[in-house]
Amino acid sequence: MHSKVYVNRTLNLKRIRYLGLDMDHTLIRYNSEEFERLAHSVIKEKLVKSRGYPEEVLALPFDFNMTIRGLVIDRVRGNLIKLNRHSAIRATYHGLRPLDFKTQNKTYQSTYIDLSDSKYLAIDTTFSVSLAIIYSQIVEMKEENKDVKLPDFAVMADDVLQALDEAHRDGSLKDVVKTDLARFIIKDPDTVAGLEKFKQHGKKVFIVTNSDFHYTKLLLDYAINPFLKNHKSWTELFEFVVVSAQKPRFFFDDLRFLKINVQDGTMTNQESRLEPGVYQGGSARSFTRDLNLQGDEILYIGDHIYGDILRLKKDCGWRTAMVIEELEHEVRHNKETEHLTREIENLMHKKEPFEDEMTDLMTLKIEDSAKVDELKVEALQKQIAEIDGQISALIKRQQMHFNANWGQIMRAGNEESYFAYQVDRYACVYMAKLADLLALSPRTYFRAPRRPLSHEL
Ligand SMILES: [Mg+2]
Repeated sequence: MHSKVYVNRTLNLKRIRYLGLDMDHTLIRYNSEEFERLAHSVIKEKLVKSRGYPEEVLALPFDFNMTIRGLVIDRVRGNLIKLNRHSAIRATYHGLRPLDFKTQNKTYQSTYIDLSDSKYLAIDTTFSVSLAIIYSQIVEMKEENKDVKLPDFAVMADDVLQALDEAHRDGSLKDVVKTDLARFIIKDPDTVAGLEKFKQHGKKVFIVTNSDFHYTKLLLDYAINPFLKNHKSWTELFEFVVVSAQKPRFFFDDLRFLKINVQDGTMTNQESRLEPGVYQGGSARSFTRDLNLQGDEILYIGDHIYGDILRLKKDCGWRTAMVIEELEHEVRHNKETEHLTREIENLMHKKEPFEDEMTDLMTLKIEDSAKVDELKVEALQKQIAEIDGQISALIKRQQMHFNANWGQIMRAGNEESYFAYQVDRYACVYMAKLADLLALSPRTYFRAPRRPLSHEL
């Protein structure tokens, strides 16, 4: 069977003793389109009801395919930007309209942007899709209809982000999910079977989630318990369940663990060493220490660079795996468009001799003051432009298979996207869903492919 787990750094599962799991979108799969639709509508309501945005905002439609994950907001100019691995701008939208190459260059004198500048807001949080959609829509509204009263682009960016944070905190999203689990949550028996298999091999499994105890219990009762074969309930399957963990703080701070009584939800201070059970808060440091583990004996699997993966890699030395839901779609369409990739490469090769000839001609002109055949130059220019036109059309056709506006998630033009770069840097392995990893033997040795450097090609 072809493995659907992709390797950035060598990882030996035999060495892993504890498998740590994020819950939302990792252990528990969501129907993302429905979930983003909900977030979009909650943000709209919050903007209108508590921030004085005009009623028209409520009518803005939701289109799941309008944006992708991993984009950056330019708060000052009201733009959405896609970056490549060097933080160079590869695509820009203002509202619902793409900026053409010339305008983009004029707007951003440098191609590179500094992500630590507060002008920019990287949006790789949960609901980054709905956030990007609503932001484009209100920017468009401000440009299109000068009679509608809307604040500055930067204020709008902050408002949208705050509305979303608030929706997370005050339960307005989760309260809706709770009442309609079948709409939002995907039951996945393969995940549960896979976890039981890993336990047979002596691996321990634990959860670290930012969700609170009641929500966690509800989801685990719903999506895990019905499929258990060798365990009575999830409390038996998971050695530890840590709720309200405040990731990423969990990974670098020293918060205390509170022990939760699963029967009634009451909490007590955990004074002694950790023993199996359900906890609130706590820290990765005391977890690793109390269990007498080396960081690299733990593999933690999550779906967010910032919340789950980045600090873990930087501060704890735990091994990391990342779930990227969009990967399935991306891999499938990469295969489907292979012929286009080849055609593009062929055209690039076809262009090379014309470009070489052009270089020679112009070099001669400058160095030897030779008289060049202007007609020849013109003809060459025309040939190159023609091929360039064909290449752009093919690229556009290829991009349409991914996202009509933004193309691939993992690529920006010919290079890796900034998002892909982050995945490469912080996740030891990555896959579309947890079950892809669990389908493999718990003794698997993941070997990173040797990647040629430019001079080795
Ligand atoms: Mg998550």
